[in-house]
Amino acid sequence: MFTIETNGREIYGRLVTTGEYVYVQTIGERIHRIIPAEKQEIDGTKEELWIAPGLIDLQINGFAGYDLNMAEADLEQRVKAIGLMTREVLKSGTTSFCPTVITAGFEQIHSSLTAIRLACERDPFIDSCILGIHLEGPYLSEQDGPRGAHPLEHVKDPDWEEFCAWQEAAGGRIRMVTLAPERSGAVPMINKLVQAGILVCIGHCAASHDEITAAVDAGARMSTHLGNAAHSHLPRHPNYIWSQLAEDRLIPSIISDGHHLHPSVVKVMARAKNNHIVLVSDAVHLAYMQPGIYKTHVGGEVELLPSGRLQTVANPLVLAGAAVSLAECVQNFRQFTQSDLQTAFKLATLIPARLIGEPLIGDVQTNGLADILTFTWNEAEDKLNLKTVIKRGEMIFSAAKA
Ligand SMILES: [Zn+2]
Repeated sequence: MFTIETNGREIYGRLVTTGEYVYVQTIGERIHRIIPAEKQEIDGTKEELWIAPGLIDLQINGFAGYDLNMAEADLEQRVKAIGLMTREVLKSGTTSFCPTVITAGFEQIHSSLTAIRLACERDPFIDSCILGIHLEGPYLSEQDGPRGAHPLEHVKDPDWEEFCAWQEAAGGRIRMVTLAPERSGAVPMINKLVQAGILVCIGHCAASHDEITAAVDAGARMSTHLGNAAHSHLPRHPNYIWSQLAEDRLIPSIISDGHHLHPSVVKVMARAKNNHIVLVSDAVHLAYMQPGIYKTHVGGEVELLPSGRLQTVANPLVLAGAAVSLAECVQNFRQFTQSDLQTAFKLATLIPARLIGEPLIGDVQTNGLADILTFTWNEAEDKLNLKTVIKRGEMIFSAAKA
């Protein structure tokens, strides 16, 4: 029907962003045209094919056995692991992500950042998948609960000189910083980070209402996994969860894996924020591994349950990161909030893309980058079945060949 240049492709399906039937034509790494189409009749045994933008995950610590924060391995091993991990992440439908480096000593954070920089410098494909680094810590709360599984001996007050040394090791790739607004020096630190073009996120904190407001006045724009990394008991009001929910300038990220937040909390947050929310996986290296007890640097021994819940052995109430993909979080969000597919996808595509400042991804748009998923939706099981993953025009995953 259409003439496509040899390096292009044409995909027919129903666009998740509009509900329309279209042909999406790609040439090279870009979307060339989106052409309206008639609904094609399919036989009763098949399901309709949907087309969506590739998912964007602003918080990934590891995946499928690969760990971004591993302490012992040498630099070359780590660089290799980042490459292998990136390919596994892509197969799950996430075409862009922010590898997340967590609280540790100066040298360990330095080497984690160096490994990510080297992986990006050596392989343009890895570089195209990594939007930037999310530095979660070490300027976080010391208190049990808000600190989560971040090691007590390494959490501290913000230190701009130290941050600059890390940013240099990262080759300027740190693009998000999560910090606690109640830390001494937090506001001047936020000012400097915002001036440097970095997305500042409030998280792992025990801040007062005024401290949260001051951080937002200084330019903080996201709440990191809101509702988690919190005390198990809070004053009924005000508290740091209400304050962040009520602050319209903050977009919260949430982990809708079914374990980090009760479905009712996800629903209330979605309503309070009018769906201006970012879904993150917060996946750790045990995502997609067999259930069992594992030894990790995050909180020592952790247990992965068959349900996908990942908790510390010392205190089963403390979660140690998540073990599901972002695609599953999209599926859960839709279920927990009774929203449509379009809304659920937006939280893992357009909203994170615009929040971090990436105009060419997060949407299926003419001249945008051809980061595209196709999937079918099983309404009876309420389940998303990924069919293909295309990254910058290149087919990375096909369920037919898997
Ligand atoms: Zn965290």
